[in-house]
Amino acid sequence: MKAKKAKKKKLTKTDLIEYSFFALSILLIVWICANQIPRGIHDSRVIRETLTELSFEREHYYIYVGETLTPSYYVTPATAITDITVSASDTSVVSVSGDLTGVTGSTAGDITLTATGTPGVKANATVTVVEKQLPPDSDLPPLYKDRLKIANINNALDPDYVPEGMVVIDTVPVSVPGRMLLADTLAAYEKLYAAAVEATGQDVRIISGYRSYDYQNGLFTNRVKRLMANGMDEETAKLTAGRTTQPAGHSEHQLGNSIDLSVGWDTSYDFGNTKVGRWITEHAHEYGFILRYPADKTELTGINYEPWHFRYVGLGHAEYIHSHGICVEEYVILQDEAVTAAQIYSQQITAEELAASQAQ
Ligand SMILES: [Zn+2]
Repeated sequence: MKAKKAKKKKLTKTDLIEYSFFALSILLIVWICANQIPRGIHDSRVIRETLTELSFEREHYYIYVGETLTPSYYVTPATAITDITVSASDTSVVSVSGDLTGVTGSTAGDITLTATGTPGVKANATVTVVEKQLPPDSDLPPLYKDRLKIANINNALDPDYVPEGMVVIDTVPVSVPGRMLLADTLAAYEKLYAAAVEATGQDVRIISGYRSYDYQNGLFTNRVKRLMANGMDEETAKLTAGRTTQPAGHSEHQLGNSIDLSVGWDTSYDFGNTKVGRWITEHAHEYGFILRYPADKTELTGINYEPWHFRYVGLGHAEYIHSHGICVEEYVILQDEAVTAAQIYSQQITAEELAASQAQ
C-alpha cells in the first residue's frame, strides 16, 4: 500500500510547471523587497520633512504708501517641503499680490501679516504703512489726496461731466428755485450764510450755482451775440465775452461747487463793498470757500475780478490758499511740487525713520 502511495507522488509535468511559477514568484518578491521598499522608505523620509517652524525675517516692517515690500521668511527644517500662503489682516491698508511676492501699501495704517505653512505652521509680522511726508521745513501745501479740479480757459471739462451728489438749494435764499449744488458745498454754505447774516444783519442770496455744459453754452453764445449786435466782430466778441462769461466746459459752475452771491438779483461789482459781501470775503476760508477770481490775479485766472463768485474747496485747501494769498491756478502747481518734494524726501528718510520721528 505504501509503495503504491509513493508511486502516486511521482512528479508530473504539470507539477513542475506549478513549482517553477512558485519559485519565480518568491524570487520576484525578494527582488521587490531588495530594491523597491528601500526606495519607498527613502521617499517617505523626504515627505516627513515638512515644515516645523516658520518665521519672518523681521517682526516689524515699515513701508510708504505705494511702496511694495517683499518679506523674507525662514523655514525649519531648511529642506522642508513648504506650501506657504501670506495674508493681511486688513486689505484696505495693504494688498498682497497673487503670487505672494509683494505686499503693497495702499493707505496709512498698521496690519498683521500672517504666513501659513502646511501643516498648520504660522508666523506673524506687523507692517506699518506710512504716508509720504514733506520735509519738516516745507511751506508747500499738505499732501491732500485730492488735487483740486480746475476749469479755466486752458482746462476744459468734458461736455458730459456732471458732478455726483448734487442737491436742490432749498435751505438758504436763492434767486431761482431749483438751482443745485454739491451737497457738501451747500452744507458749508449754510454755515457761512448763517454766520454772515448774524454778523452783518444783511441778507444775501445765491443767484447761480451748478450750471450744465449746455446752460453755460447758452449764456456764452447770448453774450457773444449781444456784443456782435453792438458792432463787434465775432473774434473780438468771443474774447470780450470770455473775460466775464466762460465758454461751455471752461466754467467752474459746471463743477457744482461754485456760487454767485448777491444782495440783489444780479451780479454786482459792488458786492465786495456791501456789509455782507465784505464779511463773506474776509471769512469765506473759515468755511472752506475761496474768492475764485481776485482782483490781483486776473492774469493767472484769465477772468476779470468777480467779487460775487466763490468756490468751495474744503477747509484745508481754503486755509492755505487764503493765508498764502494765491489763486487756484497757483495752488495746483504747488500741489504738484509738494508731491515731488515728498517723493524726494522719502528717498532720504526711510519709512521707519519717518514713523519714529512722528511718534516723538
Ligand atoms: Zn460765477
